[in-house]
Amino acid sequence: MSNTELLTLRSQLKTIEEVVSSNFYNLGDKFFEQLVLELSDRLNADYTFVGELNSDSSKVETISLAGKQGILDNFTYNLKDTPCDLLTNQPACSYSQDVCLLFSKDQLLVDMGIEAYVGVTLFNSKFIPTGILVCLFKNKIENTAFIELLLMTFASRAGAELEHIKLYNKLERNKIKLLKKEEEEKKQANELAYAKERIAFQKESLAKEKELNELKSKFVSMTSHEFRTPLSAINFAAGSIKKYWAKMEPIMLEEKLGKIENQVLHMTNLLDDILIIGQADAGKTGSMLLSINLGSFIEEIINEVYHSFEESNEIELIDREGLKGTDIFIDEKSGRNIFINLLSNAVKFSQGDSKVTVELSSEKDYIIISITDFGIGISKSEIQNIFNPFVRGKNVDLIQGTGLGLSIVKEGIDVIKGEITVNSTVGKGSSFIVKIPKKNKKAKKQIGIN
Ligand code: ADP
Repeated sequence: MSNTELLTLRSQLKTIEEVVSSNFYNLGDKFFEQLVLELSDRLNADYTFVGELNSDSSKVETISLAGKQGILDNFTYNLKDTPCDLLTNQPACSYSQDVCLLFSKDQLLVDMGIEAYVGVTLFNSKFIPTGILVCLFKNKIENTAFIELLLMTFASRAGAELEHIKLYNKLERNKIKLLKKEEEEKKQANELAYAKERIAFQKESLAKEKELNELKSKFVSMTSHEFRTPLSAINFAAGSIKKYWAKMEPIMLEEKLGKIENQVLHMTNLLDDILIIGQADAGKTGSMLLSINLGSFIEEIINEVYHSFEESNEIELIDREGLKGTDIFIDEKSGRNIFINLLSNAVKFSQGDSKVTVELSSEKDYIIISITDFGIGISKSEIQNIFNPFVRGKNVDLIQGTGLGLSIVKEGIDVIKGEITVNSTVGKGSSFIVKIPKKNKKAKKQIGIN
């Protein structure tokens, strides 16, 4: 080997060592850019590029292209009639000069004024060609074998990098697909939940409508029955007066008129009850919580109920804790509705001349009013429904009623934020226990007390 050859070899080895030892292997995304820049510089190439082959190896799309001035814009070109086309069948290809003459149909090559060409093929892990690494020179070159060797040195790494990028892109695309799918599933789940909600809502509305229809028909049958009796009594009394009024003693006349008055009052009460239920159903029940003396409030109601019956049972007020003097915070109208109905029922459903008691007691936060009778009682199976409108026990026989009283009671209990419980045994009697909150924030506000 001559001295010149030895010097050339040494310089080539140095180039390989420098290129290989430069910091390529940790570049990530910038690998190709750095590779073409470095190779262009070291080999004094006019253009260096890494290109990716399309699926049928008919086209190349450059991934990174370096010129003398640095990185250039990427482009795509057809392989047919180009030296690169040969790389799809062989691992390397080089022309030290006249490449333009040999590939005169390669317009790009001609336009660029390329004289020499060195290219190597990039393979993936299955040894399928996926890309090319090419250096182009505007002047003829001497050392094609060395350049080919250097490009080969990087071919496997570049091929692996290309495969890595492809896989990474595929992974990213799949990730996006997965995210979209997850979003779609979420959307579907939301739509399903919404549809379920709507069905539940529709079911509820349907049930409410059904309940309302049942209530309507119960209402029609109750009113036709409950109004007919007083109306025929009024009709009968009025008819007697009309027919016999000239012969009637004043006392008889007064008695008949009294009957008419009582029946009208009964019908008015009935209408009042219906009105209360109607307002409660429409959510129009207003309330005004006031401080009221417990003793006078309850005694007045006892009196009123006692005198509303022709033959009332005795009603005893029991106040062991001396609570009569205390004040309760209650909406007066709702309070009266609660206790007039409970006490009237106690008298109405009492047997013989048994007593009815109204007992006052207290707990930490409540005043308790218990109304107890020793009457017909309520069966266990019926207790849970008696607060619903138009529901009456099977054992009421001929005892008059509409089935509205206890729903009015329940409405009143809700208004005063109280509680009600029932203890009852058929044939022995019933206790209705009402708890009224001692303090009521709403009441404090309205009447300004602490
Ligand atoms: P009404 O008294 O007009 O029948 P309510 O709504 O006041 O209607 O009462 C519903 C039903 O509850 C009554 O029909 C009756 O069966 C039962 N009930 C209520 N209070 C008593 C009571 N003190 N004793 C026995 N049964 C009662």
